[in-house]
Amino acid sequence: MRPDIPTLLHNIFGFPAFRGVQEQVVGRIMAGQPTLAIMPTGAGKSLCYQLPAVALDGCCVVVSPLIALMHDQLRAAQAVGIRAASLTSVDADWRETQDRLRNGDLDLLYVAPERASGEGFRNLLRATKIALFAIDEAHCVSEWGHDFRPDYRLLRPLLDEFPDVPRLALTATADHHTRDDILVQLGIPRDGLIIAGFDRPNIRYAVHPRDGLPRQLSDLIAGQTGPGIVYAPTRAATEKLAEILGKTGRPTRAYHAGLDPRIRAANQAAFIASEDMVMVATIAFGMGIDKPDVRFVAHAALPKSIEGYYQESGRAGRDGEPAEAHLFWGADDFARARQRIGELDPLRQQGERARITALGGLVETGTCRRAILLRHFGENPPPGCGNCDNCLNPPPSVDVTQTARKFLSA
Ligand code: ADP
Ligand code: MG
Repeated sequence: MRPDIPTLLHNIFGFPAFRGVQEQVVGRIMAGQPTLAIMPTGAGKSLCYQLPAVALDGCCVVVSPLIALMHDQLRAAQAVGIRAASLTSVDADWRETQDRLRNGDLDLLYVAPERASGEGFRNLLRATKIALFAIDEAHCVSEWGHDFRPDYRLLRPLLDEFPDVPRLALTATADHHTRDDILVQLGIPRDGLIIAGFDRPNIRYAVHPRDGLPRQLSDLIAGQTGPGIVYAPTRAATEKLAEILGKTGRPTRAYHAGLDPRIRAANQAAFIASEDMVMVATIAFGMGIDKPDVRFVAHAALPKSIEGYYQESGRAGRDGEPAEAHLFWGADDFARARQRIGELDPLRQQGERARITALGGLVETGTCRRAILLRHFGENPPPGCGNCDNCLNPPPSVDVTQTARKFLSA
């Protein structure tokens, strides 16, 4: 059996979590749904096909417009152990690559569009198990785009010859003429359009020092009507908290990887169907769970990284309606993190320390939480969002840094 998606994400790519819409895009591909993903440069488009390429049976065929770009990506993929090759005019090992393709020995094959549309290549694909077509820089298919490539127009007949193979188009170009044209040219339905950007304006972020967590969570739940997820740090904590929170009268269940698979499946199904259930879970809960009306996500302790926090809290409010993200933390979370880091391979310690420092910045700030999250992902947000705890109720301690600075320079 192949490892599950979060395990692959971590073990092969070394990432603690998905970023932005990656989770959604990968989920669609794993479910065989045609998709156009519009994601800003640097958002991590490659992962959206490389991860399914590894997870799915068969080879993922990637169409990419520039040989140099292709070879960069090829090297990066090979470096993490993905079985990848390319067929371009400068590759000498065509015969070997063709054999590997037929033998099911490749996860990823990069080709140029003019190659992809040729009859010889099509014959080769007929003898190959194909998992996915990925069309990178998909704006090249549109005359509206800034980089029209007539060869991209020849891809459609190829895609249509394999109607059961999902297709994923990717681009950073977001203007709506180009976008609509890509959908039409590549035969992707309108509901397959996914547009990124890291901001989730409907989520209200709040951070609280832990101070009697069961009561804090019970109060939180009492003030909420819709379904919610409480992330707890350990399996034991999920069960204990579920029991306590169940006393609020809200339907409450636990979820973690140690539960009997039947109970886990039943709890998940009950949550998806429910309009008011609280799920107390480890982070094993979430990936592939498409429940748009989750109204709140609470973290009972510090998550492992800002990426993880963003991804987990991002499960709230996918329907665009108001939703809340609450993070409860204590100094002991940082002590535990320090201890965990101390036990790691020294090579990994620096990165992990940086993750914890970044989280420290998020929980201790007196300024806009959203701005901190967005800056972490390379966006340049306005100074205040008006929809986080600090923007709504500026803390009196907001001058702490200034006071400290005065003190230090005195
Ligand atoms: P794009 O094609 O959208 O411009 P890339 O696929 O080249 O972006 O990825 C940009 C960078 O983001 C790469 O360095 C990649 O390793 C990194 N990256 C991708 N996904 C993640 C993730 N989930 N967490 C952390 N870094 C990521
Ligand atoms: Mg790219």
